Formats: sequence, C-alpha cells, structure tokens
Amino acid sequence: MRIVVLTGGIGGARFLLGVRAYAREVAAEVTAVVNVGDDLLLHGLKVCPDLDSVMYTLGGGADPERGWGRVGETWTVKSELAAYGAEPTWFGLGDKDIATHLVRTTMLNAGYPLSAVTQALATRWEPGLTMLPATDDRLETHVVVSGPDGDGDQGQRAIHFQEWWVRYRADLPTHRFVFVGAETAKPAPGVLEAIGSADVVLIAPSNPVVSIAPILAVPGLREAVTDGPAPVVGVSPVIGGAPVRGMADRCLAVLGVECSAAGVGGLYGGRSAGGLLDGWLVAPEDEGALVPGVTVRTAPLRMTDEAATVAMVRAALELV
Ligand code: GDP
Ligand code: CA
Repeated sequence: MRIVVLTGGIGGARFLLGVRAYAREVAAEVTAVVNVGDDLLLHGLKVCPDLDSVMYTLGGGADPERGWGRVGETWTVKSELAAYGAEPTWFGLGDKDIATHLVRTTMLNAGYPLSAVTQALATRWEPGLTMLPATDDRLETHVVVSGPDGDGDQGQRAIHFQEWWVRYRADLPTHRFVFVGAETAKPAPGVLEAIGSADVVLIAPSNPVVSIAPILAVPGLREAVTDGPAPVVGVSPVIGGAPVRGMADRCLAVLGVECSAAGVGGLYGGRSAGGLLDGWLVAPEDEGALVPGVTVRTAPLRMTDEAATVAMVRAALELV
C-alpha cells in the first residue's frame, strides 16, 4: 500500500507520526509532500520551517513543548545577533537549528535542489518515510496587509507570511494571501509520481490556507490529486469551531470561510464538484457537518499521543 500525505509543519508532523506507525503495522510506504510556502531567508540562511518540523518530529529531535525547533536548544547566536542589532529579531533561530540551515544553504548554493538537500538532511534524521518539498522552486506565501509600515505609510503592502504570523501574530488588517512564484513552480521530482501511484492521498489536519493551499498552488499538483486514481481523505484541523492550536481561524477569516469542520471541508470541496475530497474526517463534536458530495465521518481527532493518532489514521483510511 502507498500512502501520500499533503502536510504543513507542526500539526502535519504529529499526524505523520501516526501515519508512520500505522504504515509499519501494514508494511505501507509513505510519502509526505511538504509545504514550502513558509520558507524564508534569514541572515543569509535558507530556513524551511515546515520541512524542519516534519524532519525533527519524525527524527525524535523536536521540542515537544514549544512545538517547533529542536529539543535542548540554546540561543547564543540569537543573542549575539541581537547585540549587533541585526534584523529581523522577531524570528528565533536556535543554535542547533542553525546548523541545519547552514548545511542546507551550503548545499543549495552548491547547486543541489531542495529535494536533494532534504534527502541529504534526512539521512541523519531517518524520518522513516519519504519527505518531498512540494516544489524545488521558490514559492513563498506573502500576505497583503494595510497598517503602518516603518515610514508611517498606511497603504497596502505585502509582507512575508512569517512576518505576518510570527511578528504581527496575524493581527493586522489583512486582505489576501499570495503564493509568490507559484505560476512558474514545478512539482519537485517524485511528487507527481507518488500521487499518481498512491492508493490513498491524505490531507493532514494542517492549516488549509497557508499549509495545504500553497502545496496545491504548484501547477499540476492539484490536478494530480483531483484527477488521480487514489481516493482523497482530509482530516479536519478544526474541532468544535476552533483550531486545535495556532491561528488557522485568522487565516480562514481572511478568505471569508467559517472556522468550522464544515467550513474547511467546504473550502476543500468534493471531488465530484471539482474539489479535492472523497472523504472528510471530523471530530465527534462536529457530527452533522455536511460537505456536498463528500462522505463525512466522525472520529476523535485530538493527537494526544501516537496511539490516538494511529486511530485517526485508521479511521481516515476506513473512510474509502
Ligand atoms: P504549521 O505549518 O506548523 O502551522 O502546522 P500545520 O499547518 O501542519 O498544522 C497546524 C494545524 O494543526 C492547526 O490548524 C491546528 O488546528 C492543527 N492541529 C494541531 N494539533 C491538532 C490535533 O491534535 N488534532 C487536530 N485535528 N488538529 C490539530
Ligand atoms: Ca507552516
């Protein structure tokens, strides 16, 4: 059996722990197609937050409390940068984490594509599944906002998603998201092949607006999923009208989509109506959520531990 998972960072990584455990039981192969829209250059280093969340989490090196970055992290470089007044100061790069970005940046500068670099980094972390960036090309989520910039200008401007999310906590008048570079991006090697030969495609309970949408914005990728042979099952990141953690509600509000399991399911849409989903797994709290043309089932969706997450994965797979 071949399982493909479309995933963002923290929520997706937790879900992948369950997918991997399930796959070990049934000897399935798993490919994770990971969002790169959050990627950014900081102090000359290429940082890939979602790829790193997946890699550290599956490799046993993630900080479980903070949710992102490395366990046992130290912050010497960050405080030294601050002593120079080096901007940006709103994004925390830990010392251990910086080693990852140094290796990645060196390899990218030497001409290796991100997919090859990701594979090289994974030889250390042994994530137990194939991690593919959605694209090797630059694809960055930017956010069109209004509000004062440094010059007091009140007009509209686009800022990087990380600046919107981390620096402003998504708390600015926000107009829309733009996936810069999406028009010309190509799926990374192996992505279309994995989707085309999958027995099932799972959409992780990741942020639909800024984790899953940028993956699907890569030309050809969305069509590979919607026109492919594999059934597609999504898992809701929203339980009882609120994201389990994070600020997905703020992202959904920008699109005018209700923050509910039905709202997110409707945003993805049913495959028969040109959308993505054959099945949509929602929490028992959301029983009765309807998405036209989609089989909706309930299962406990809180990823409290690996066993609970495996049960979620099983419920998702039983849906089709
Ligand atoms: P990010 O890229 O690091 O923001 O992570 P993702 O986009 O992959 O995941 C963020 C989403 O995970 C949020 O919208 C949360 O609601 C969702 N999430 C986190 N923990 C859980 C959980 O235990 N159950 C479910 N269903 N969703 C979760
Ligand atoms: Ca992310």
